[in-house]
Amino acid sequence: MEYLRRKPMPFKVRKKIFIRDKQHCVKCGSEVAIFAKYFGDPNVAEIDHVIPRSKGGSDLEDNLQLLCLLCNRRKYNHEVV
Ligand SMILES: [Zn+2]
Repeated sequence: MEYLRRKPMPFKVRKKIFIRDKQHCVKCGSEVAIFAKYFGDPNVAEIDHVIPRSKGGSDLEDNLQLLCLLCNRRKYNHEVV
């Protein structure tokens, strides 16, 4: 089914969440950039699913939050079973 395929977050959505969360990571509060300044830039914004898609989370705005790369990685490390 088309909608189940994992697609990259549309830029329009990224930008919306970026502005809503005021350019700051919701976990650690560090400022993030919408574009990476250089390859591997740790301050680049990641759009994270509050409830993961694998657990039925949606792509709607209220299930999305802004995280920095480090917090996003940390979160995934914790969630690995
Ligand atoms: Zn963070």
